[in-house]
Amino acid sequence: MASGDSTKRRLTILGSTGSIGTNTLDVIDRLGGRDRFEVVALTGNGNIPLLAEQARRLGAELAVTADDNLYQDLKSALAGSGIAVAAGRSGLIEAAERDAGWVMAAIVGNAGLAPTLAAARRGADIALANKECLVSAGSLFIEAVKKGGGRLLPVDSEHNAIFQVLKNDQRHAVERIILTASGGPFRTKSLDEMRHVTAETARAHPNWSMGLKISIDSASMFNKALEMIEARHLFGLRPEQIEVIVHPQSVIHSMVGYSDGSVLAQLGCPDMRTAIGYALSYPNRCDLPVERLDFAKLSRLDFEAPDEVRFPALRLARRAMQSGGVQGAVLNGAKETALEAFIKGRVGFLAMAEIVEKVMDELADLPAAATMDDVFAADEKARKMAAGMIE
Ligand code: NDP
Repeated sequence: MASGDSTKRRLTILGSTGSIGTNTLDVIDRLGGRDRFEVVALTGNGNIPLLAEQARRLGAELAVTADDNLYQDLKSALAGSGIAVAAGRSGLIEAAERDAGWVMAAIVGNAGLAPTLAAARRGADIALANKECLVSAGSLFIEAVKKGGGRLLPVDSEHNAIFQVLKNDQRHAVERIILTASGGPFRTKSLDEMRHVTAETARAHPNWSMGLKISIDSASMFNKALEMIEARHLFGLRPEQIEVIVHPQSVIHSMVGYSDGSVLAQLGCPDMRTAIGYALSYPNRCDLPVERLDFAKLSRLDFEAPDEVRFPALRLARRAMQSGGVQGAVLNGAKETALEAFIKGRVGFLAMAEIVEKVMDELADLPAAATMDDVFAADEKARKMAAGMIE
């Protein structure tokens, strides 16, 4: 919402208790809170105290926990507030289907796909943080958005950067996009050192403050792998048009290269509120008190080619893009399973990519998805197969 815009916007936040969710609420507060926004629904999973506090503070119509077992806890926490309460998968769908013009999709992992899809189908504008929607469902998700008639507003900082600099009337002249990657906490570690890292060290991202899973995915560069597939579908590109460059300062958030040799970039301090504010205000801009870039202090920007031996996730993303079909869903389902196992200390850091590659080998011949059910089935198969490799 632009400064000076006096209309109230009805919005829903799927995943309001997470890192993107809390940043979204911070942006909303700074843009006028309840005076400017009507919060329709908020959803979380395990963090009931925070979900209840958010729902009361913003006067939400509905609060939902994804965990059926926590329904009573949420109900008690909201007793007397008049806020409706729901739980489980059906509760998430109810939240997504309620009449809100703008929906932040910030549930982590493939669990975000069904509710985001429900919001897209009814024509809401989707601020998309949940990259898994595009990784798993790809063109089917894009079709659903188009059919619904809403807009897809990328929140992932790289895709938001590209969205900001991509001129719609010049799309035909786009030669390539260049996704920047910080390189994560293990950028300079040897393969041998990476073999022994723990979830605690892997979650310590050098520049961004994010949720646990995306932080570890950044360390393995699976996050960048997912972003390559996300970019492909978001911007309708061929796999070979998507490049990745390691840029340890995370100041350039991504770039678009045009056919005349020009490269346009979006820069900023690493703070997700800029991307969230842009998606919330699009096509305008809002006022946000994020740190400003000080170029004199910055003094240098570094770049290096990614090392696909230490970070095979990038190679696997290219393979999934080239194969097409449900390979994105297979890659993501196997990755989420391997990641859970790594967080629990059941497999090593490097084993995550090994498991994903083996599952992709085994499921290479799955037919392309004709419907969303095929996507969910491929995801399920990949999870089962990966789990079998871990036991
Ligand atoms: P968090 O882990 O911080 O938050 C995830 C949210 O999803 C929380 O509200 C959590 O609830 C909820 N949740 C967890 N499990 C489930 C489930 N099974 N069903 C429904 N809801 C669930 O994640 P992030 O905010 O870091 O990331 C969210 C999404 O945004 C991811 O797809 C990520 O890749 C993407 N993203 C994140 C960025 C960031 O800066 N964090 C940047 C770019 C993209 P609870 O906390 O109550 O358990």
